[in-house]
Amino acid sequence: MYDVIIIGSGPAGCTASIYLARNSLKTLLVAGYKSGGQLMLTTYVENFPGFKSILGPELMNRMKEQVISLGVEVIEKDATSVDFSLYPFKVFVDDKVFEGKRILIATGARPKLLNVDGEKELIGRGVSTCATCDAPFFKDKYVLVIGGGDTAMEYALTLAKFSREVTIVHRREEFKASKIMLERVKANEKIKFKVPFLVEKIIGKEKVEAVLLKNLKSEEKEMLRCDGVFLAIGHVPNTEIFKGILEMDEKGYIKVDSRFQTSIKGVFAAGDCVDSKYRQAITAAGDGCKAALEIVHELSEL
Ligand code: NDP
Repeated sequence: MYDVIIIGSGPAGCTASIYLARNSLKTLLVAGYKSGGQLMLTTYVENFPGFKSILGPELMNRMKEQVISLGVEVIEKDATSVDFSLYPFKVFVDDKVFEGKRILIATGARPKLLNVDGEKELIGRGVSTCATCDAPFFKDKYVLVIGGGDTAMEYALTLAKFSREVTIVHRREEFKASKIMLERVKANEKIKFKVPFLVEKIIGKEKVEAVLLKNLKSEEKEMLRCDGVFLAIGHVPNTEIFKGILEMDEKGYIKVDSRFQTSIKGVFAAGDCVDSKYRQAITAAGDGCKAALEIVHELSEL
């Protein structure tokens, strides 16, 4: 029996693990097959205090090392289902079951898809959600980045190091991206903009060959040749295994109170699976810390 089982090993899960272990609580971290969360897919992080600039995977590896050094048990597999109907709570990992007095869900979020024709078929064959992972495959190619937020800008800058030309396709003329990122992109002569355009279809037999775009002002459609399409249109929470068990909002983000407690007492949630607004490594880490302290407080009162 564990005092706490944490599901998810991004900044929220790792920070919570550190606080729980340092309070001598027996803690299991179900880290997932792809442990480390979304920072494993990013390049330089320049807004995590204490690090002027650090690679996302490097930051997460350091967090994980710290977690392990404190004696937290780590399983590098996904939680497959949960049973929170009876105490102690159960977390299933394939055919194994783990029991915990308290649960902290920190499963984060994943990149959103456009849901247009051709997209699913061509994922891994020109359609990508990770420029850091796939940019080197597009050396001297023509690529598109879809979206107008910081992720889109970051992807465009990464791709510009390899590709011949990068075009940011965005559905509005205004951008959600921060001023500094937008300025860096505008200063890069390899990066062009196409706004306000919507992707209607991704075309290609073996690999991406073109996209069908719709101009949202004129309503006219046009075909744009390209070799790659990088999606940077936001995220969806990884909360499927908790559907019907925990209260969620209409987008699937888990509802918590000011103490990070979900609709089931003793089950907590923190990080991007809860937060659709801030979604920063530092806010996830901060919330993971707060949730862990709430758990420490609750267990010490038992
Ligand atoms: P955002 O939600 O900020 O941006 C998503 C973009 O995708 C928006 O421009 C949105 O358009 C567009 N979009 C959404 N759905 C669709 C659709 N179906 N079709 C076409 N376009 C669509 O997400 P990000 O991932 O960019 O950023 C998330 C958070 O992470 C932000 O807080 C950001 O600041 C942060 N971040 C910070 C970085 C850094 O500082 N280095 C790097 C990356 C992210 P619209 O604007 O019209 O809604």
